[in-house]
Amino acid sequence: MRVKRIALTGFRNYEWETIDFSSDTNVISGKNAQGKTNLLESVYLLAYGRSFRTRFDKELVNFDYSSSEIIADIISHEREQTVKIQINPGTPKKITVNGIKKTASGLSDTVNVVLFSPDDLNLIRDGAVVRRKLLDNAICQIRPKYNELLSEYNRLYEQKSRILKDWNEKPSLIDTLDEFSDGLCRCSAKLIRYRASYTIRLNEFASVIHSDFSGSGENLDITYKTVSTVTNPLASEKEIYYEICDHQEKHRRAEIESGQCLTGAHKDDLIIKINSKDAKNYASQGQTRTAALSIKLAEREILLKETGEYPILLLDDVLSELDSGRQEFVLNKLNGGQTLITCCEDENISERTGGRVIFIENGRAYI
Ligand code: ATP
Ligand code: MG
Repeated sequence: MRVKRIALTGFRNYEWETIDFSSDTNVISGKNAQGKTNLLESVYLLAYGRSFRTRFDKELVNFDYSSSEIIADIISHEREQTVKIQINPGTPKKITVNGIKKTASGLSDTVNVVLFSPDDLNLIRDGAVVRRKLLDNAICQIRPKYNELLSEYNRLYEQKSRILKDWNEKPSLIDTLDEFSDGLCRCSAKLIRYRASYTIRLNEFASVIHSDFSGSGENLDITYKTVSTVTNPLASEKEIYYEICDHQEKHRRAEIESGQCLTGAHKDDLIIKINSKDAKNYASQGQTRTAALSIKLAEREILLKETGEYPILLLDDVLSELDSGRQEFVLNKLNGGQTLITCCEDENISERTGGRVIFIENGRAYI
């Protein structure tokens, strides 16, 4: 899968620009604040229908425009397809593929991307939120129903949290608590099964990549952690549901007293070990970065297995954070698939890859 051409109108600092990409490595080079990350963001939007940097459409539209448009020619499943996204702040985005209306989550049928940005370098050291987000984003791309499930979970979670917060002032709210708790347990059971089986696949690929990438045969091990009463996160939905309900009942009182949701998939995490030691506490900075990149590359391999094609790999500003051996691995050893790598022009990256160099200056591209 690859993006052949993208045309941006009024998107971020691009007024009107068309960019052609090569089918393998594209190095997007330029000084700071010229529009390199903005370009990756536009490609990311083609797969997710939303940005990885902001929830607010207004920020995506050029300061001098009232709306923006992204049109891209994509080669996907050996067919050329045209993806169009129109952003009009205040109204939902208009998304079409070959002129047919699509939802944001429906885009994953046509375009898949894997993004690795400087924030991801801290995937292992940061809190559980980033690891859950990694799982959620990755699963959404291969299981469109997962997105709906996640939205439903978040809706129930917010409502239950509000009840737990406000019942003191409005005691009758407590009557509805058990209904929301039950809904959350049902959704949790489904989410847990998806996440547990995805983690097993992630671990299989990431451990092989990490061992190769680190050059020292280091052993990376990723396991899934969920609600403590769940004995087997791969068991049937029904079994998991009963086990979570058990946890829920035991914590009902504590939830009411603390005013917080204490049971459910919103507390899930990934336990990441390098050579059997918890990476969060013991791994060096280089090791955690290598592991983070290996996990993202594993996501790419899973997409290949699922869709028959490598997704588009977006690497934003990560090369300068890696040592030369690892840079070499990223630049020249990622076989198959299209890669878009941003870097600062003084990094001399362009000379070290056979790929196309796209120079960006003030929202204009020069090849
Ligand atoms: P760096 O090397 O520092 O990461 P970059 O080339 O990746 O730089 P971008 O993040 O792509 O830079 O942003 C480039 C510029 O886009 C910034 O100067 C920012 O002010 C500008 N910008 C962001 N949003 C908008 C917008 N809606 N309209 C116009 N300009 C914008
Ligand atoms: Mg940038």
